[in-house]
Amino acid sequence: MDTPEDTIQTTAVRAEREPVNLLGLTLTGLEEYFRVIGERPFRAVQLLKWIHQQRITDFSAMTNLSRELRARLAAEAVVRLPEIVSTQKSTDGTIKWLVRVAADNCIEMVFIPDARRGTLCISSQVGCALNCTFCFTARQGFNRNLSSAEIIAQVWLARTLLENDSADRRVITNVVLMGMGEPLLNFENVVDALELMLEDNAHGFARRRVTLSTAGVVPKIDALRQRCRVSLAVSLHAPNDRLRDQLVPLNKRYPIRELLAACRRYVEDDARAKVTFEYVLLAGVNDSRQHARELAALLADLPAKVNLIPFNPFPNSGYQCPPAPVIDDFREVLMARRIMTITRKTRGGDIDAACGQLAGEVQARSRRVRLRNANRLATPGRTTVTLPPEQLQS
Ligand code: SAH
Repeated sequence: MDTPEDTIQTTAVRAEREPVNLLGLTLTGLEEYFRVIGERPFRAVQLLKWIHQQRITDFSAMTNLSRELRARLAAEAVVRLPEIVSTQKSTDGTIKWLVRVAADNCIEMVFIPDARRGTLCISSQVGCALNCTFCFTARQGFNRNLSSAEIIAQVWLARTLLENDSADRRVITNVVLMGMGEPLLNFENVVDALELMLEDNAHGFARRRVTLSTAGVVPKIDALRQRCRVSLAVSLHAPNDRLRDQLVPLNKRYPIRELLAACRRYVEDDARAKVTFEYVLLAGVNDSRQHARELAALLADLPAKVNLIPFNPFPNSGYQCPPAPVIDDFREVLMARRIMTITRKTRGGDIDAACGQLAGEVQARSRRVRLRNANRLATPGRTTVTLPPEQLQS
């Protein structure tokens, strides 16, 4: 079998002719592709298995296809993966990969192993437009949405690399869209990639093992419920609109009441489902007992669990992580009010792979974004930010 590096090189050569990349096509997408080229739709299942299960990218090795079809695919299509630029391993076993998605743009993905699970954290956009004040990805600005191929490629590459790691073979048990970007602002591509993660003939993950994290794009939470109901995590970070408006500027558009109503709808007909609320703890900003009480009241009648994330620092952030006793207090207030709460352990801190530290290499497209970021570096948390119009279509 080709090594991933070989595969990446050969596909890069083919890419010059700009053939169709079959990597990001869902079952329906592939069926349509085969219909258009006059082939029977059942070929779609065969292709999915070769590409995502066998992880074969060379059509000539797809032995249950006719010789003619293999030749035709080789001429017109490709299975193209982005290139891994670097690999960093943390002392705690966390692995961070830098993935090149264009000549001057890279995204990051992270594998976080623990005793029971292997969690892959993937990105959905190059950079991010949301400008949450405590997130390093925001400082990079926004470049573009990833294609469905570039999103599913992260699962493909990580599975392949981990399987080929003879020293430390690991299995991915969970996938979280908690890397760079706001997944619900790249809705169609993210849903296609999610379908490929869940599809039995592709990666075959159970729904509850795939989690999408959003800062709260309310209409798209409802749309996700209709289209592809994976586990939902919501980055809340504040118990009232006044504070959340500052930390997560998207809150001005979709305030807490509307956000929680959408969360309730998301799980209302599934008695076992819970929404995970992420809450990054920022010293002196949102970490008091009063904040915890307010948060508990807000979540009291929701099927919710809370993930407390101690702030992970980056240069000039203007924030600090609260001391351990403050974090423990916060958790106890929630637990005393019967809200299931865990404090997320910082993983991969020594390689900047922790939550909110992913940077990649992002060439921000709009000058506005760069100016805004420069401005923010001067006065952390003080700028009001508007999203590019194309990001706000609901
Ligand atoms: N845009 C999505 C996906 C990013 S997920 C979202 O907002 O949910 C990344 C998670 O890490 C979010 O909960 C985010 O708020 C959190 N995070 C961002 N910066 C962080 C930091 N510096 N320290 C700890 N957590 C952070």
